[in-house]
Amino acid sequence: MERTLSIIKPDGVSRGLIGEVIKRLEENHIKVIAMKMIQMTPKQAQGFYAVHKDRPFFNSLTAFMTSGPVVVMVLEGKNVILKYRDLMGATNYKEAAEGTIRKDFATDIEKNIVHGSDATETAAFEIGYFFNSFEIMS
Ligand code: GDP
Repeated sequence: MERTLSIIKPDGVSRGLIGEVIKRLEENHIKVIAMKMIQMTPKQAQGFYAVHKDRPFFNSLTAFMTSGPVVVMVLEGKNVILKYRDLMGATNYKEAAEGTIRKDFATDIEKNIVHGSDATETAAFEIGYFFNSFEIMS
């Protein structure tokens, strides 16, 4: 069993895609074991995306991620990190496979609806960034 962090980004929330994303998770037998809606502060977003701090899009990305509420979730399942990344599709929606969330809904390389951890270590960091153990159903 593996866990990963999912975020429905501000564009996904404002465009009414919370249900659509969760429907795809459930259809693919991915379990949601924690969930909440928050609006990140600039500090929180900068800390979350610290690995990208030297990238040219860092300021724009953190401004976007704080621009409205997001839904953060912990997902659980066998190989869920890769499985959820496959459901999301490539970062750039233009390169995303047919039927993926980003291919179907993203409008921009930055405004790409969803986030998903990319490895075991990042998943552990990202889950702990938003949730304490009492908020995660086991
Ligand atoms: P992910 O793991 O697929 O989300 O992709 P990355 O970790 O590489 O990037 C994190 C997030 O930064 C992406 O989901 C996008 O929202 C944003 N991003 C990535 N590349 C670019 C870019 O070239 N330009 C802009 N504006 N945003 C980007």
